[in-house]
Amino acid sequence: METVERLHGLLEAATPGPWVQTQEIDGVFSGRQTVIKAGSDDSPAFPYRRVVTVGQTRQHFHIKAEDNVALIAAMHAALPALLDIAEAAKVYADELWAEEYCCRECADAGKEPSREYAALRDALSRLEGDDGE
Ligand SMILES: [Zn+2]
Repeated sequence: METVERLHGLLEAATPGPWVQTQEIDGVFSGRQTVIKAGSDDSPAFPYRRVVTVGQTRQHFHIKAEDNVALIAAMHAALPALLDIAEAAKVYADELWAEEYCCRECADAGKEPSREYAALRDALSRLEGDDGE
């Protein structure tokens, strides 16, 4: 699951959360929820700081700017659990495979996999290799 490994690396390199969607104070998006900040107003040692800013000084094609920023913040919050789920699903898929086939030869002999195993295998295969770039 190369994508899972890549996402672990990206998450580790990124600013720690929680990431909070908040209002732009400046520029053409002033007053709109197009900024993500991390940190806390309560901690002087770790004050709020900008993590993501969308189109602060020029209007780009950001018609859905708030929705896009909301998605980034939500993905950052959900990603650790989703990665854990992906890894657990891989273990479970391997267990299902072992229940359904006694060996690789039998698996290659053409017996249809269960719908559950096929669905997991197909979903997990989308996390292999192609990282969407
Ligand atoms: Zn066999």
